[in-house]
Amino acid sequence: MNPELTSLLDRVRELAEDLDFTAVRAWKDEGTDRKAVGHMPIYVPRELIHACGMLPVGVLGAGDRLEIIRGDAYFQSYICHIPRSTIELALTGRLDVLDGMLFPSICDVIRNLSGMWRMLFPERYVRYVDVPQNFSSEVGGTFWRRELEQLWNDLAKLAGRAGGDDELRSSIAIYNENRREIRELYEARSREPWVYPASELYLVVRAGNVLPPEEHTLLLRRYRDLAAQEPGRHEQDLSRVVVVGTFCEQPPLGLLLTLERAGCSIVDDDLLLGLRWLTEEVPEDGDPLDRLTAAYLTSSCETASVYQPEGRRGGWLVESVQHNRAEGVIFCAPSFCDPALLEQPMLVEALAAEGIPHTQFKYSENTGQFAVIREQAGTFSDSIRLWSEA
Ligand code: SF4
Repeated sequence: MNPELTSLLDRVRELAEDLDFTAVRAWKDEGTDRKAVGHMPIYVPRELIHACGMLPVGVLGAGDRLEIIRGDAYFQSYICHIPRSTIELALTGRLDVLDGMLFPSICDVIRNLSGMWRMLFPERYVRYVDVPQNFSSEVGGTFWRRELEQLWNDLAKLAGRAGGDDELRSSIAIYNENRREIRELYEARSREPWVYPASELYLVVRAGNVLPPEEHTLLLRRYRDLAAQEPGRHEQDLSRVVVVGTFCEQPPLGLLLTLERAGCSIVDDDLLLGLRWLTEEVPEDGDPLDRLTAAYLTSSCETASVYQPEGRRGGWLVESVQHNRAEGVIFCAPSFCDPALLEQPMLVEALAAEGIPHTQFKYSENTGQFAVIREQAGTFSDSIRLWSEA
């Protein structure tokens, strides 16, 4: 492998595994009074944080690299893992680098986590970001515009300086470019998944949680060029699959590698949605808060934690299968993730109506054993290839 690609991949892996947020600390150390604001997965308007001169930091729990000692005392043992590992990160001082924390309305667990944060860290800025579930401009739009305004004022106070409309327009342009690069990388992977394996692409995109967006955009571009030039990445006879259910608690990297080793080429997924939530460019002119409001209403990702009118659930998944020429879907949800598991039967129904095969299993971010998943995914991959040849 090209040594530059090896070193780029080593770096993004280190960033993903670094529970001390060293990159964020280094960014803060480069200037005086620099601040960083964390947020849980799914959408928050990162542009607002950036326009106030602060660094938005995606917090995705601790994966399989931290023993949960105190975090278990805060949540029931049967729920998903990410809130416990996030509390553990905070109680062990690893999140002290964050000057504020935003909790988007993903589910009740995250709502409760935001309440605990307030009690545990009363001196830090905390906000529950109630993203709208109504997509009409009169109702959801009016509500969201007001929320954005409040958040914008809060962030200006936290930063110690008000960001103006020009700064916000410039941040919108920077994030447009970043999301465009991620979209193009996803499209490139869909065309040639053997050039951009999901296990690599995931880490490269994930680095955007801790790097400034300008730096992340350059990293994405460089990875795309280097991977495209890499000799030996030839087309393979693997099954093309879409992975769904991974929008909040992230699966361990080993799980993505296991799917690949089991003969699956992941051609689309719902990993790291917070970094690519808006599917179209936000206009860079006009009133920037109005533009962000309209973008949320008209070009948000569809996912389990957002309301969908009756009968529309699953349309996006069928479209993704068709657009990416996938042969099947793997439902891969965190153990006891209510939104993902409650949505699954509706998605299955949508797939069944189109005769699209699927399989399903659950994971936990701290699971390291994948033998059963490998067998199941391998059997699924073999069977969809057999069906497609029949
Ligand atoms: S993994 Fe699912 S249940 Fe857990 S916090 Fe995320 S959305 Fe909520």
